[in-house]
Amino acid sequence: MVSEKITSNLSRSSWIRAMFEEGEKLRKQYGADKVYDFSLGNPDIEPPEIVKEALKKAILSDIPKMHGYMSNAGYPDVRAAVAAKLKKSSGVPVEGQHIVMECGAGGAMNVVLKTLLNPGEEVIIFAPYFAEYLFYIDNHGGKAVIVDTDHSTFQPDPQKLYAAITPKTKAIIINSPNNPTGVVYSRSTLEKLSEKVSSREKEFGTEICIISDEPYEKIVYDGVEVTPIFTIFNRAIMVNSFSKSLSLPGERIGFIAVNPGMGDTSLLMDGLIFSTRTLGFVNAPALFQRILPESLEASVDAGAYKKRRDMLYDIITGAGFKCLKPTGAFYLFAQSPIADDVEFCKTAVKYNLVIVPGKGFGCSGFFRMAYCVDENIILNSKDAFEKLAAEYK
Ligand code: PLP
Repeated sequence: MVSEKITSNLSRSSWIRAMFEEGEKLRKQYGADKVYDFSLGNPDIEPPEIVKEALKKAILSDIPKMHGYMSNAGYPDVRAAVAAKLKKSSGVPVEGQHIVMECGAGGAMNVVLKTLLNPGEEVIIFAPYFAEYLFYIDNHGGKAVIVDTDHSTFQPDPQKLYAAITPKTKAIIINSPNNPTGVVYSRSTLEKLSEKVSSREKEFGTEICIISDEPYEKIVYDGVEVTPIFTIFNRAIMVNSFSKSLSLPGERIGFIAVNPGMGDTSLLMDGLIFSTRTLGFVNAPALFQRILPESLEASVDAGAYKKRRDMLYDIITGAGFKCLKPTGAFYLFAQSPIADDVEFCKTAVKYNLVIVPGKGFGCSGFFRMAYCVDENIILNSKDAFEKLAAEYK
C-alpha cells in the first residue's frame, strides 16, 4: 500500500531518530542518568517567562473567534510585528505584507520549495546538511545538489558553489548558525557566495533564490554576529521559527520573510500563501501567533548553551577527539577517529554514549553531539568519552 518513494525514503531516513531509539533502549536498561544521549536537537531549556505569561493572558482573553480560521498568511498585527523586528535588526524595510506565518521552519521550508520549484529543478545544499532537506526538496519534485564545505572551517566554498550552479539551479539553501556543525557563516563568506551566484545568473540568464534557514539565529556565542541575509542577497527568502529561540518546537510556530529588495514580491507572496493553504497547513497556530508580539524581543538564555558547549568541548578534546569550536546553535561536530563513523557510533553505544554519525548529514568521518541536555549528563559523560577514545589509541 505504501508508495515506493516513501518506502525507499524510510529506509534511508534519520540516523538521529535511530540513535535516539538506541538511547531509549539504554535508558530502560541502565536508568536515565547512566545514559549520555546527545542525539536529539530538542531544547531542554524552558521557554522565557514572558512567553508563558503571554500564553496565560492569551488563553484567558475573550477575543471573539480566537480559535477560528484567519487569513492564511496569519494575523495582520503579528505579521506586522515580525516585520518590524526584522526591519529593526537588518535595516531592510520589511513590511507585514512580506511575512507569512508558518508551522515551524520545517513547514515554512516546504511551503517555499512548493512555491518555487518546477519538476527537476535543482536546489543546492551545503554538506554537512540538515538531513530533512533531502526529503523536503524531493517532496516538491526538486533535485538536491550537494556541495561540500571546507572541512577545516565548515564554511561554504564559493568556488565549489560556482562550479555546482547550472542553468537548472533554482535555489540555494543556507543554514547559519548551522545544524550539524554549529558554525556561523561569516559576512565575508556570504559576500563571496553572493558574487558567485550573481556571476552565474548573468552567465545563464537565470534567477536563483537564496533560502536562508535560520532557526538558530539567536543562539550564538563569543560576540559573533549573524549577518542579516537580506543585506547580502536581494533574491532571498528567510525561513525561521521559534522552536529553538523560544524553546517551542512542539508548538509549530514560525514564519517566512521575503526580501522587499527583490522588487515586486506580489506573485511570490500570493504563491506562498496559496501553498500554505493547499499543503494543508491552512495557517500557523492561532494561539502561538498571539504570544509573538510580546515575545519577539525575548530569547532563551544563549549563555546557558554556551556553558554546555564549553563543558562538552573540553571533555571531548581532552579525551583526544578533534573538533572545531563552533559559535552557534547547540551542536558539536567532531572527527571520528576511524573513517567509518557509523561503526564508531555503534562502538560508542558500548559506553552508553549516544552520538550521531556524520553520514546522516552527508559528511562521513564525523559525528554530531547535540548538547541541549542537562549539564550533569555532559559532566558525567567524561569517563565514557575517555574510554571510547582509548579504544582508538
Ligand atoms: N532547520 C534546521 C537547520 C533545523 O535544525 C531544524 C530542527 O531541528 C529545522 C529546520 C526545523 O525546525 P522547526 O522545528 O521550526 O520546524
